Amino acid sequence: MTRPDFLAAAEGEPASRFYDIIVVGSGIAGLTAAVGAARHFKVALISKSVLRDTTTFLAQGGIAAALSEQDSPELHMEDTIRAGAGLCDEEAVRILVNEGPERVRELMEICPKFDRSGGDLVLASEGAHSVPRIAHAGGDATGSEVVSALAQAMRQGSRVQVLEHEFVVDLLTDGGRCVGTVSLNLRSGEFTLNFASAVVLATGGCGQVYSLTTNPAVATGDGMAMAFRAGATVSDMEFVQFHPTGLYSDESPIFLITEALRGEGAYLLNHAGERFMLGVHPQAELGPRDVVVKEMVRHMQGAGQEFLYLDATHLDCQMLRERFPNVYDTLRERGYDLCKDRIPVAPVCHYMIGGVKTDVWGRSTLPGLYASGEVSSTGVHGANRLASNSLLEGLVFSDRIVRDLDRYVASLGERARPSQVQLPQPRGDGNRPSQLAENRRRLQKTMTAEVGIVRRDAGLLRAIREINALSASLEPPGASLEEYELFNLLGIAGQIARAARLRHESRGSHLREDFPARDDAAWRRHINFSVRNKEDGGPAERGEPGGGNR
Ligand SMILES: Cc1cc2nc3c(=O)[nH]c(=O)nc-3n(C[C@H](O)[C@H](O)[C@H](O)COP(=O)(O)OP(=O)(O)OC[C@H]3O[C@@H](n4cnc5c(N)ncnc54)[C@H](O)[C@@H]3O)c2cc1C
Repeated sequence: MTRPDFLAAAEGEPASRFYDIIVVGSGIAGLTAAVGAARHFKVALISKSVLRDTTTFLAQGGIAAALSEQDSPELHMEDTIRAGAGLCDEEAVRILVNEGPERVRELMEICPKFDRSGGDLVLASEGAHSVPRIAHAGGDATGSEVVSALAQAMRQGSRVQVLEHEFVVDLLTDGGRCVGTVSLNLRSGEFTLNFASAVVLATGGCGQVYSLTTNPAVATGDGMAMAFRAGATVSDMEFVQFHPTGLYSDESPIFLITEALRGEGAYLLNHAGERFMLGVHPQAELGPRDVVVKEMVRHMQGAGQEFLYLDATHLDCQMLRERFPNVYDTLRERGYDLCKDRIPVAPVCHYMIGGVKTDVWGRSTLPGLYASGEVSSTGVHGANRLASNSLLEGLVFSDRIVRDLDRYVASLGERARPSQVQLPQPRGDGNRPSQLAENRRRLQKTMTAEVGIVRRDAGLLRAIREINALSASLEPPGASLEEYELFNLLGIAGQIARAARLRHESRGSHLREDFPARDDAAWRRHINFSVRNKEDGGPAERGEPGGGNR
């Protein structure tokens, strides 16, 4: 193996480490995969920040699963498919809802803080669920409770090596399969080649492509970008979900006000003080997110305002404080009293539905590469994710990945150790920090203005040109987090904009002003991108027919 050019910035030869399985990411998807895989394998869990710095940690509402007598997997499936606007993969949804309850019960065994009343689980209502179905922990602190519990479970087993502040730059491939990762230690500046029989990407979403998002700073789409570079297919990139109730502010990350508050009866009001969702959807404020967001945009535009109101002042104050301690306290810090004030809210970038295309075992199209959680596109969300289905997706599909790893690793036999590794592209000396910051700001501004909630062809074209210009203005990345993240963001942004431009209809979270209707005849299909078709004149855009056929 020759010394790769892109490691020029590193002193001496890069070190190599050897594992059975590498998991990238420490949210619900990564921790679940690591805990499970460690029962049979030597595992490394790599995170570019500290373990808890994840989107999962911020999750408030909870986890959806058919856990009560009035509920059933069939009902959960119906709700998920209805919300998904014709693009859900039915097999994947069936697996999600059928295996979900058992996975959540297992999680409860290690995370005792799920909220109960008199021994019974308390289940909340959220948008587009036909029955209360959301299990939550610590009131509105589900994510932090879950991450803490899973991290503790992982530490109890000795077979997971945890590598924090280690940025995975790229995937290593050998003969058409993934055999590891290249990582940059953000403290020492050293690169390492990490070899393994399989890699599980659990790197979360890409909210940082927009100026304002509920996502933490780590959500820069690295996993999607590196999987694409390595040859895996990404799918459904045009579907970016905007959450109706981000606290109105101009500072990212935007504080999210959980949908469970509307589940407890909070209203959405326009500037005339009217409940504008009445009559728009039978579930009013608890309609699917895409329906609520669309109506919010109409009312904001009509009033020439950038926000509307969330009103919980008619609800019992004691209940609000006990059920939503995190929301209550954070709003207090920002100068609002949830019990007395109408809270200004606006839709905000929240969740990436698209990502690394997988089958129902979490396998990407690149052998040896698995993806789970927000980085993946399993097909369970269709064109619009049902609230609180994403934590469940990470739990269920990471468990399936763990089960498939035994089979995959056994199938490798002698090939488990790579022979000739294909190293990532050569890198250069890099770019000035000021230029990186400026390009990132311009990218986010463009994506917000042109590829946000409402899209039209001219704007999408402007965005694509700007993204191309920003990319062309940069030298190949040197060895810094800021460089790698910016290149990943540019790659992902380009895919979102190009997929959005291709889809000539409005469906779920994808709203086209110039194609306002849903067009099932032409567009009940997925848009996939892959580098494999480069020879056709650039990364391929290939629509696949059929909502369930991916
Ligand atoms: C404010 C908020 C509230 C939410 N509430 C809910 C809810 O109540 N219920 C629900 O179901 N969903 C909710 N969601 C969505 C849900 O939280 C996420 O979709 C889910 O947590 C994603 O989990 P994950 O494991 O895929 O990724 P994450 O939890 O985002 O973890 C990603 C990990 O990958 C690491 N990483 C990324 N890139 C690299 C790299 N290059 N190298 C090394 N490490 C890397 C990160 O450091 C991090 O450890 C919410 C989202 C937000 C933002």
